[in-house]
Amino acid sequence: MTTENERGDVKSIETRCLHLSRAEERRRYAETFGAISYPIYQTAAFEHPGVRDDYEPGQDHISLSAGYNYTRESNPTRSHLEKVVAQLENGEFALATSSGMAAITLLLNLFHSGDQIIVDSDLYGGSIRLFSEYESRYGLTFTRCDLTKQDPSEFATDRFKAIYFETPTNPMAHVSDIEKHAQFAHDRGALCVVDNTFLSPYFQNPLDWGADVVIHSGTKFLSGHHDTIAGFLVVREVGLAEELRSLSTTVGSALAPFDAWLVLRGIRTLAVRLDRAQENAMKIVDWLQCQRHVRRVFYPGLESNPGYAVMKKQARGFGAMLSFETDTKERAINVLTKVQTIVFAESLGGVESLITYPIAQTHASVPSDVLDANGLTDRILRLSVGIENADDLLADLDQALNY
Ligand SMILES: *Cc1c(COP(=O)(O)O)cnc(C)c1O
Repeated sequence: MTTENERGDVKSIETRCLHLSRAEERRRYAETFGAISYPIYQTAAFEHPGVRDDYEPGQDHISLSAGYNYTRESNPTRSHLEKVVAQLENGEFALATSSGMAAITLLLNLFHSGDQIIVDSDLYGGSIRLFSEYESRYGLTFTRCDLTKQDPSEFATDRFKAIYFETPTNPMAHVSDIEKHAQFAHDRGALCVVDNTFLSPYFQNPLDWGADVVIHSGTKFLSGHHDTIAGFLVVREVGLAEELRSLSTTVGSALAPFDAWLVLRGIRTLAVRLDRAQENAMKIVDWLQCQRHVRRVFYPGLESNPGYAVMKKQARGFGAMLSFETDTKERAINVLTKVQTIVFAESLGGVESLITYPIAQTHASVPSDVLDANGLTDRILRLSVGIENADDLLADLDQALNY
């Protein structure tokens, strides 16, 4: 049975993957024909019924049929997805963008030349590349700080505007305390931004711990089927939401209606996919730890992970991403070519298990001093665990690793 509070909000996250919380929103699902699946509004523009009586030149004066005007600005299918994602992240507003990188780029547009953003040293390679572009072209200052070892307050200047991190990170599974870093940022009037791609809202809600902005590559767990590219920014504060919405309309980074629909479709099974993928990941972690050719296993659910206690505090699960270090570089490369059920491919978070070689793929453009500082070697492989039968995945890893 479903429990609801006074606002009519559905409490459980599994149900929120399928239904918008408020009863009134659920009725709108039925809009015209009572469709269970939300329609794809594949249109660029919307008809205006007329011009408002109080029309004054230079003002926003066109009356809109149902609040829609032009799809770069807003579209019903995208709006529906944005409501679903905002609700899953316990946020008030979400913006769906054409990719995770588009979401991060949109966010950077909030800042001015000279502003300082403190970023964790272990980040998605594409984010590192984007930040160095913005530093050299537009004069934003990105100060790299190892949040597992260093205190960000030692780096903050009087132009400090935001702290930016992922938790847990990829591929080293570093964990950062969201509550602590949000407090640090807020004490200085700055924003706390968390890329929550790796755990998804099913396992972690950074806004609940004080973050101001949550980022997602919707390409990964949210859509979950390796079949589309999407991104999100989720916020609580109305002023910030309006600023981002207006920037999104101006720069044109919004997600197309069909892709919005694919992400909606993926989200409907988020809970069951992640439960199974995490269960599989834990079995693989246990197995890898006993393998003679495996030196180290990186997974935030290992009690030996220094971030384990923080994970237990701020997340409801440990996710389906793990990395491991083999004894030699040759063996690591061999595993990539020998896997059969597991696919050697970039990306993560989908129903099929994928294996990647971070040093040559996701982190190929990361400077070698940063790689060394993070301990990312040429023997480390990253596995995004899918929903296959766990024994089949173990058998595949066994034949790739041990023969
Ligand atoms: C993939 C990814 C991104 C970029 O998202 P795209 O959808 O590929 O643009 C950003 N952050 C993290 C943690 C990612 O894994």
